[in-house]
Amino acid sequence: MADQLIRATAADGGIRAVGVITTRLTEEARQRHKLSYVATAALGRTMAAGLLIASGMKRTGSRVNVRVKGDGPLSGILVDAGLDGTVRGYVGNPFVELPPNAKGKLDVGGAVGKGFLYVVRDIGYGYPYSSTVELVSGEIGDDIAHYLVSSEQTPSATVLGVFVGAGGVSAAGGLLVQVLPKAATDEALVATLESRVEALAGFTPLLQAGKTLPEIFTDLLGDMGLTIFPESQILRFQCGCSFDRMLGALKILGEAELQDMIVKDNGAEATCDFCGRVYQASSDQPSDHLHTGSFFLEIIAYQFCFRQVFMG
Ligand SMILES: [Zn+2]
Repeated sequence: MADQLIRATAADGGIRAVGVITTRLTEEARQRHKLSYVATAALGRTMAAGLLIASGMKRTGSRVNVRVKGDGPLSGILVDAGLDGTVRGYVGNPFVELPPNAKGKLDVGGAVGKGFLYVVRDIGYGYPYSSTVELVSGEIGDDIAHYLVSSEQTPSATVLGVFVGAGGVSAAGGLLVQVLPKAATDEALVATLESRVEALAGFTPLLQAGKTLPEIFTDLLGDMGLTIFPESQILRFQCGCSFDRMLGALKILGEAELQDMIVKDNGAEATCDFCGRVYQASSDQPSDHLHTGSFFLEIIAYQFCFRQVFMG
């Protein structure tokens, strides 16, 4: 099944449900970043979470950044997801591998460790809205639900899952079910939803059993006035980096120093952390590339896109 997002409502609009299948884009991230099993699960869950959160934004062009900063060996996760269905992301240490946890599953919580979840919502006006919560378990699903409940006061249940084996990612995705403000005081409704989502016992087993998103919605909310929206949105791994942006990132070093390095070292190199693409600037580049545009604005964009700049 293609990577996709499907929306539904129930209980006279009091419940909002969103489901994503992210199998292919998670496999693409695994290959681009050469991720270990546990790193694939951690990044895959966070990318699904980012897409689910972004789906609740209204304005075209809205994006959300989800940063998981823990003290575990994974050294953090960063995901950038858009309302348009694009997502990209990376982890600090893609090679970390841990023994399975007590449940015999990939130990994402152990890899992430203790720390904080930072969510930045950018609706395109230039004033991103950010909030921080402490990590509950580092397993990502619990942490995202905790963020939605504490930062947005929206009772929410989240299921995220990535199944990765020797042949790569065979199933990935997630579900977000929220009780909207008009129904949020209905404690029985909130409790019913929480128990049903818990009873789902994971997301990837359902996908592997051949269930589609509409079938999963029906199992969950079929007796509660479920309406599934007929449109499905295509999801994909996509990075907005480019050669010009790379040059802007290098400008952080200072133009004189950059020119000096390009001449002395016969080129400079930058890797985009989000997608792993490597860009090279050589002394053949027209120098006016380095002087155009708004310096200040570019720096903001490039720090976002590039974490490390190193010389080739
Ligand atoms: Zn990139």
